[in-house]
Amino acid sequence: MQRNEYPLLSPSLGAQKTLVAFRFGVPGARPKVYVQASLHAEELPGMLVAHHLRGLLETAEQAGLLKGEVILVPAANPIGLSQRLDHRSMGRFEFDTAQNFNRHYPDLAAAVLADASIRMGPDPHANVATVRELVHQWLTRWQPATELDSMRRRLLLLSHDADLVLDLHCDTDAVMHLYSEEACWSPFEPLARLLGCRAVLLAHESGGGPFDERLSGLWWQLAAALRVEGVNAPLPQACASTTVELRGEGDVAHDTAREDAQAIFAFLEHAGAVAANAPPRLPPMACKPTPLAGSQTLRSPVPGVLVFLAKPGAALSVGDVVAEVIDPTAAGQARVHQVRAEVSGVLYATVRERYIVSGGEVGKIAGATPFRSGDLLGA
Ligand SMILES: [Zn+2]
Repeated sequence: MQRNEYPLLSPSLGAQKTLVAFRFGVPGARPKVYVQASLHAEELPGMLVAHHLRGLLETAEQAGLLKGEVILVPAANPIGLSQRLDHRSMGRFEFDTAQNFNRHYPDLAAAVLADASIRMGPDPHANVATVRELVHQWLTRWQPATELDSMRRRLLLLSHDADLVLDLHCDTDAVMHLYSEEACWSPFEPLARLLGCRAVLLAHESGGGPFDERLSGLWWQLAAALRVEGVNAPLPQACASTTVELRGEGDVAHDTAREDAQAIFAFLEHAGAVAANAPPRLPPMACKPTPLAGSQTLRSPVPGVLVFLAKPGAALSVGDVVAEVIDPTAAGQARVHQVRAEVSGVLYATVRERYIVSGGEVGKIAGATPFRSGDLLGA
C-alpha cells in the first residue's frame, strides 16, 4: 500500500489543504477500481466504510491477493470538511462560490473530442488507451485558479482511467440506494445485490456534471459525438461509475460500516480486482431498478412542523400519507396538511429537519414511470 498526499491550491496566505489517497496493487494493473468517500463532506458513513475497507485491502495485499489496482480516497473533500457554521458541518456547497461540491466537473468528452476524432482506429482497446491518454493530458494541462477546481482536478487525475468508480455518499435519512447511468447498470448489479440496495435509480444522464457521471459519461458521450463527426471507430464503455448512498447521515456505526466494507470488498472480488477462492455469493436483488426520472420529490405547500407517518424503506401506493405538516398557529380547522405519495414505490429518503417552509422538500419516492426531464438531481 502506498499513501500519497496531494496539496490543493492554496487559496489564501497561510492556508493549505491536502488530499490523501491510498493505492493498493500494482500501478497499471487491471481492473482499476477507484473508491472515494464524503465528497459531500457532512456525509460520513462512507468515510467509516473506507476505514474498514482499507483494513480489508491491506490484509488482501499482504496475502498477495491484489490482482488489479485499487485507489481509495477516504476523505475526498478537505475543503468541505473544514466549513462550519453555527457549530454545524457545512460540507455540501462551497462557501466561496455556493457551488455544490458534486457538480460542475468538466465535460471530459467535449475536452478530448477534437484530438480523439483524428486518433481513433479500428482497435477498441487501442482507442480506450488513446482516450485515457488524451484525458490525462488534458487534466495535466488544466491549471485551476481556485482551490475547489484544484480539488476537482486532483480527484479526476486519480480516477479518470479507472474501470470502476464508486463514489460513496449518503442522504439525510435513507435506506441503502445507488444512482448510476443506464450504461453502467450491468457491472453494478452485483454491487446492488451485495449492498442490499432498496432502491436503484438509473438515468441516461442526470445533468449538472456530477463527479461519477463525468467519468462514465465520457465514454458513451464521446462515442456519440464521434459518430456525429462521421468517425465510426469502436469505443467501448470503458468506465462504469456509481454514486452509492450509504443510508442516512446519522448511520455512522461500526456494524453497518463493516458490512458495507465487506460488500464492497466482495464486489472487488467479483470484478477480479482481488483474487478469491470462490466467487462471492450474490444475494437476490432487494428491489427493481427504477428510472431517476420517475423519482418523485415530495414537497409541502405550507410551512409547519413536519411529522412523518412513513419511514424510509416503506413501500407506498398513490395517495398514502407520508407526513403531516402541522401549523399550530392556524385559526379554525386548517391546522394539518397531509403530504401524500403521488407515485407508487419505495420511500427511499426523507429530510431530517422537522420544521418545513412552504415548498420545502419532504422526501423521495422511487416511482417506476418516468415523468421528469431536464436536470434530474436536486441541489
Ligand atoms: Zn452526497
